[in-house]
Amino acid sequence: MSRNVAVVGAGIVGLSIAWRLMRDGVEVTVLDGGEPGAWQVAAGMLAPGGESAFEHPALGRLLERSAQRWPSFAEALGVEVGYDDSGTLSVAMTADDVAEAARVWTRQKLPLLRPSELREREPALSPRVRTGVFAPGERQVDPRRVVAALREQLSTHIVTKKVDKVEEVGAETVVVAAGCGTAAVTGLPVRPVKGQILRLRGEPGLIRHILRATVDGRHVYIVPRADGEIVIGATQEERTDHAVTAGGVHELLRAALELVPDLAECTLAETSVGHRPGTPDNAPLLGRLDDDGRVIVAAGHHRNGVLLAPITADLIAGLVAGAEDPMLTDFSPRRF
Ligand SMILES: Cc1cc2nc3c(=O)[nH]c(=O)nc-3n(C[C@H](O)[C@H](O)[C@H](O)COP(=O)(O)OP(=O)(O)OC[C@H]3O[C@@H](n4cnc5c(N)ncnc54)[C@H](O)[C@@H]3O)c2cc1C
Repeated sequence: MSRNVAVVGAGIVGLSIAWRLMRDGVEVTVLDGGEPGAWQVAAGMLAPGGESAFEHPALGRLLERSAQRWPSFAEALGVEVGYDDSGTLSVAMTADDVAEAARVWTRQKLPLLRPSELREREPALSPRVRTGVFAPGERQVDPRRVVAALREQLSTHIVTKKVDKVEEVGAETVVVAAGCGTAAVTGLPVRPVKGQILRLRGEPGLIRHILRATVDGRHVYIVPRADGEIVIGATQEERTDHAVTAGGVHELLRAALELVPDLAECTLAETSVGHRPGTPDNAPLLGRLDDDGRVIVAAGHHRNGVLLAPITADLIAGLVAGAEDPMLTDFSPRRF
């Protein structure tokens, strides 16, 4: 059992690990360079049943197990973090959109709802919506609130420092959880996947569920928060820049307004960009990097870092304590 651990990265993953270690009685320090993290823009959907879960069954199990941990994780934080289990309506507009969305719906084994049933659940939906499904297992949390809660509890453990190499960190064990920054620190293949995302402000209650849609071939999601914030996301671009583009904003707003015309009355409160930490197989890197076990990696969570934070914290805290969960085998950072 290592009693002295440095965590590199104060994003949602690094902080969750550090918090768990602190609660286990481990002496933990978090080193963060102050770069923007993906958590700052993330929508906070906790959606374990997406396409990636079918393409990578081990990842599907990891997502599912983390989703199950979210209610107790949110409660243990001790403050309101926007955890909401109203579920998701996934809908489609044109016949082509229905055909595409149906691939996922069939795998999820969810019954198709008629337009009238959809609008009963979600009165603000456009009459153009043809069909959809209700996914009760998909929840949400506000990542900004989660990180604020974790930072508050870890405030005396966080140091502002950009780490260039793991060798410069003196702790007994180093956990690298630096999101996209993990590539520079470890040499592992973590690439930034740009996402543009919007935040509107409207009447609380205008939208009751998370909405996911395929609108004229474009994927969009709308995440309503209890306080009237409405998150619309997100583009997915293999780019490293931070530009909010006219095309990106247009694409998201066009799809969202097609889906819920009343959104036109909302204020456009924020446009932002973040970079998801992607890996060659888009599954996370979790485990020991070297033979002596001093360096542990917890990165590459791509589109699901918020969802995967609780299970990542548990698995990595277990490793620090000397217990290697068999689940880690499929996510070894040494697989590349
Ligand atoms: C538009 C968008 C929408 C998203 N929506 C969702 C969603 O709905 N649900 C979901 O589960 N996930 C979502 N994600 C993905 C999620 O945000 C990421 O998977 C998650 O933030 C990864 O967490 P992290 O802590 O590994 O990295 P980050 O959140 O990126 O944090 C990395 C931290 O490491 C620090 N750092 C980097 N390099 C160094 C260094 N060398 N030294 C010290 N510190 C360093 C940075 O300063 C930063 O604080 C979304 C992402 C984007 C971009």
